[in-house]
Amino acid sequence: MNVGFIGLGIMGKPMALNVQKAGHTVIAYDHHQDRIDEIVAAGGKGAKSGKELAEQADVVITMLQNSPNVEDALFSENGVAEGLTAGKAVIDMSSISPLASRDFAARLAKLGVDFMDAPVSGGEPKAIDGTIAVMVGADQKVFDKYEPLLKTMASTVTLVGGVGAGNICKLANQMIVAINIAGISEAYSLAKKAGVDPENVYQAIRSGLAGSVVMDQKSEKIFHGDFTPGFRIELHIKDLQNALDTSHGVNVAAPFTSLAMEIMQSLKAHGHEKDDHSGIAEWYEMVNGQKLQD
Ligand code: NAD
Repeated sequence: MNVGFIGLGIMGKPMALNVQKAGHTVIAYDHHQDRIDEIVAAGGKGAKSGKELAEQADVVITMLQNSPNVEDALFSENGVAEGLTAGKAVIDMSSISPLASRDFAARLAKLGVDFMDAPVSGGEPKAIDGTIAVMVGADQKVFDKYEPLLKTMASTVTLVGGVGAGNICKLANQMIVAINIAGISEAYSLAKKAGVDPENVYQAIRSGLAGSVVMDQKSEKIFHGDFTPGFRIELHIKDLQNALDTSHGVNVAAPFTSLAMEIMQSLKAHGHEKDDHSGIAEWYEMVNGQKLQD
């Protein structure tokens, strides 16, 4: 299959390379030429615009930051929509607003182009080894057609519902992860100030009910004060904003998400927006005047 791939950042580049390794021809486009060059060096093709890419591709994958970036890639002058013809498809793997996904699907349907929202979880390491989890919003027949392509990048691919359901699922994931990191940081702060080593607390509780993948992946970073991303706070703020907007749009209160959002906003105000989201622990260190590392 000829697969157009737009957005070759932390996640998109390794995902595009996995599509290529599986035997597909990747046609790459990004605002950064050096990122396109890396895909070409690995045997792919480069494009000068979304339009040129879409003309050569059977299906176009986008992996961009947020809804406005996807809208720009798809519908701006010389964008993807200008190069698409009926029977092709767009798979948006970015984490964006589910309402935007439904809007893009409706606009592409007028061209006879299928659309699925297919955001992912698992960070850069899982993108590199092809073990991300993909949550999909699509019609069953569109899902069936492109599931094998998604499996070249992922260990699990789950159809959650119709268009938009993938991003609803992703927002749920991001709410749970943010609240979980805050809970872990709060508990470790208590332990440290009460004179108990948080690493001992982690070892004692990690296989019990409080244990989680988040706890396992983020505790080491917290204990070493290593907040290199990973997943940047500024991207998590974007996800929580979409989660709050969507929750309020369907008349749901999300108090814990709001608290996690304000903690991250406070970190951003202190210049920590490029830190990993485990940097929520830094906020607890600031307000409690206590480092969590030795
Ligand atoms: P990133 O900022 O590293 O990469 C985005 C890329 O898109 C950049 O290379 C940028 O130049 C390019 N781009 C933006 N607009 C463009 C346009 N109109 N045309 C062409 N190229 C354009 O972001 P990332 O970390 O790879 O994340 C991508 C998406 O995946 C986000 O929605 C993020 O929330 C989600 N996500 C990230 C992680 C993670 O750990 N980084 C994990 C799961 C999901």
